[in-house]
Amino acid sequence: MRTTMVAGNWKMHNTIQESVALATAIKKETAHAACEVVLAPPFTALYSVGAAIKGSNVSLAAQNIFYEDKGAYTGEIAPSMLKDAGCTYVIIGHSERRKYFHERDEDVNLKVKKVLATGLKPIVCVGETEEEREKGVTEFVVGIQVKKALHGIESLDNIVIAYEPVWAIGTGKVATPIEAEEVHRFIRGVLGDTHGSSNKNVRILYGGSVTPDNIEELIDMEDIDGALVGGASLKAETFTGIIAKVAEKR
Ligand code: PEP
Repeated sequence: MRTTMVAGNWKMHNTIQESVALATAIKKETAHAACEVVLAPPFTALYSVGAAIKGSNVSLAAQNIFYEDKGAYTGEIAPSMLKDAGCTYVIIGHSERRKYFHERDEDVNLKVKKVLATGLKPIVCVGETEEEREKGVTEFVVGIQVKKALHGIESLDNIVIAYEPVWAIGTGKVATPIEAEEVHRFIRGVLGDTHGSSNKNVRILYGGSVTPDNIEELIDMEDIDGALVGGASLKAETFTGIIAKVAEKR
């Protein structure tokens, strides 16, 4: 049985003070939620949000990482620094990182390896563009992203995958439950091919314009184990509305 998860990706939003206020409100509302709740504030607010959620059932995530331990890499953050700040999870390979910062599958793989070696847990993002879906190459694209991200990784323990169709991120265009489930089932199949039956334990989150109004149908799907939420995670009311519905699963 997979524990469901709802992760909020705050992207480049919120000062430290705003982040702590939002995290505190979410913590209060989700104290007894029967699903894992994860918050990914910007780097500057990690430590303060970590302190605000300490001792609760809410975990802390970073939105990115660099794959070296230390050194002359101006502007980058090492895994040990994220651990030090209180992180449990790291979002890796988000489509915005791939698009604006030219992250390749090879970079994603290096980051996943380093995150695991540091004792952190990666939330690995994959997903096709609108053009790729229209061309009918969604499975081809997502299959390559998953295989390359996890290349050389022995165990799927501690890995979370987020299927985020690029055309659905921040657009209000959510994948239908059937469209999403098809890709989630496909990803679980790929994990089965590469790693055997441990694929059944991997949580696969859906991301892309999730709201309290559309999550219910998505979470009913067998292979959808939760959500990675952008816009709707910036308000306690909408984020906790999503959490409440995910927590009801099965
Ligand atoms: C995201 O950025 O991971 C995301 C899913 O954003 P949104 O929910 O705003 O589409």
